[in-house]
Amino acid sequence: MSETIFSKIIRHEIPADIVYEDDDILAFRDINPQAPVHVLIIPKVEIATVNDIQPEQAELIGKMVLAAQYIARQENIAEDGFRLVINCNQHGCQVVFHMHMHLIGGKQLRGLAG
Ligand code: 5GP
Repeated sequence: MSETIFSKIIRHEIPADIVYEDDDILAFRDINPQAPVHVLIIPKVEIATVNDIQPEQAELIGKMVLAAQYIARQENIAEDGFRLVINCNQHGCQVVFHMHMHLIGGKQLRGLAG
């Protein structure tokens, strides 16, 4: 896959408001937040879309969810609740082709049907 802006953020070449980092995962605030808390959780390894996740990366995807749990607590939104979203390709409105999980919360969100 070709590199995205997120690779530059991983290498700390461009600024981002980083809220969590470990060997495998980086999380930073979305530049265009859709809610009071809007954090992007990304694997450091380049995976373009959900379609490209390999079976041996299952643990990595699990770590992304655990990072979301940790950040939600850190942001004091765990008890009220939040939403985790991964967009994929055109119908999912994916814009950046480095797979990422949106952690969105801090306000009452609309139901998916609404
Ligand atoms: P997607 O639609 O691909 O799921 O979401 C991409 C997200 O990345 C968007 O919410 C957009 O605001 C965010 N984004 C794009 N470029 C940057 C950037 O350079 N910095 C940060 N922090 N967020 C970005």
